[in-house]
Amino acid sequence: MAKGSKKKDAKKKDAKKNGKVEAVVRSPEAYPDYRVAPGERIMLPAIDANQSEGYERKRDVLDELEEQRLRIQDLQGKLYAENKHGLLIVLQAMDTGGKDGAIKHVFSGVNPQGCRISSFKAPNPEEANHDFLWRYHKSAPAVGRIGIFNRSHYEDVLVVRVKNLVPEEVWRPRYELINNFEWNLTQNNISVIKFYLHISKDEQKRRLESRLADPNKRWKFSTNDLKERAYWEDYQRAFEDAIYATSTEYAPWYVIPANKKWYRNLAIARAIADTLEAIDPQFPPAEKGLEKITIPD
Ligand code: AMP
Ligand code: MG
Repeated sequence: MAKGSKKKDAKKKDAKKNGKVEAVVRSPEAYPDYRVAPGERIMLPAIDANQSEGYERKRDVLDELEEQRLRIQDLQGKLYAENKHGLLIVLQAMDTGGKDGAIKHVFSGVNPQGCRISSFKAPNPEEANHDFLWRYHKSAPAVGRIGIFNRSHYEDVLVVRVKNLVPEEVWRPRYELINNFEWNLTQNNISVIKFYLHISKDEQKRRLESRLADPNKRWKFSTNDLKERAYWEDYQRAFEDAIYATSTEYAPWYVIPANKKWYRNLAIARAIADTLEAIDPQFPPAEKGLEKITIPD
């Protein structure tokens, strides 16, 4: 792409103002989508968390990221107006994996009215007294909306399994229950896509160190993250099994290389924009006879 062309920049600003989306530089076939096929068993240690398609630095991808964001904004406006389809986006990762950063960078500019982020921590006593899907189902998006799960029902086969919070005969059947839950959503016009942000153990060390070193990031540091880090391999195995059991045609997993934050954002934005485009939302037709209307003074 021509760098620094003033004309192009002006055109882009114009397109943004008018809510129009410029033609995307590359078609979806031209980039890796990191989607896990149904029945495919991935091995996380074999997946390079550093890969970035040969892009070397953040500024190499900023233009495309902005275009993908504009696509998302445009399609979200239509999804909202049409009010027929919704989208649930699930974000999962190891601690420091970048869920919050991805939300901030991919969804900046999306109309907050049509979008809701739900973050899930350990269940409170009321939640713990219900079936494990109860709190997630309550937060699932309606048609017209995008719902983002920052952690999700998958914690109930991840932390719950790794930390032995319930016995295997309780968590094992949950894969099927999760598939049924997601099938139910898709049957009700709520599409489901799931992202695992894949960082390496070294990268987590660097990120934890930088949280310790930077006074503005120290609030994010939790000694609990260190305890969890000791279970790294167990978590990786739990992720591999969960992704294997639940990457379906109707609710696919994407394993996103996430050591480079800027590449992670781009890869997620592409997958979301492509998913919204496949939903193909349309503005509803205007009332008939509007052309005859004049607004009285
Ligand atoms: P954070 O996202 O860093 O605020 O941490 C949230 C914590 O809640 C993590 O340590 C998760 O493992 C924990 N958590 C989330 N969902 C569950 C769950 N269903 N059961 C137990 N712990 C959970
Ligand atoms: Mg944390």
